[in-house]
Amino acid sequence: MQSYSTKQRKLLLSYLAAHADEELAADVISRDLSHEGVSVSAVYRNLAALEADGKIQKVTKSGTRRAFYRFSDAAECRRHIHLYCTECGKTYHADVPTTDYVADRIESASGFEVDRSKTVIRGVCRECGKAADTTANAKKTVNNGSGT
Ligand SMILES: [Zn+2]
Ligand SMILES: [Zn+2]
Repeated sequence: MQSYSTKQRKLLLSYLAAHADEELAADVISRDLSHEGVSVSAVYRNLAALEADGKIQKVTKSGTRRAFYRFSDAAECRRHIHLYCTECGKTYHADVPTTDYVADRIESASGFEVDRSKTVIRGVCRECGKAADTTANAKKTVNNGSGT
């Protein structure tokens, strides 16, 4: 049974890695992983173990009793400025050239050493911006539709 539980843990870890820096509800994780054959109890057991090891952080939100978890790839996070979308709540990593450019500017201008893993710039991500544009365009062109 060892290999079976190791496999489930690996699937969970790769899922978390694919969603790095996102706040994931435990029930959503287990729902997504149930398609991969990972049991709900395995998800909860492994989340608790990973939290105890300090590999993931448990996030509590006011107004809900759901458990949220956040996985950060520490090595990756140290290299990137973080972009937080206030629309969908996702965190993105700015690409390395952008991060280096901004951090170098700040450091050379003010001598302030930037801890990249702690940086968060708030705004609206490309997906959410696009969705807003689509809605606006749909409204604009709603009278131009000629049917088929
Ligand atoms: Zn990060
Ligand atoms: Zn967004």
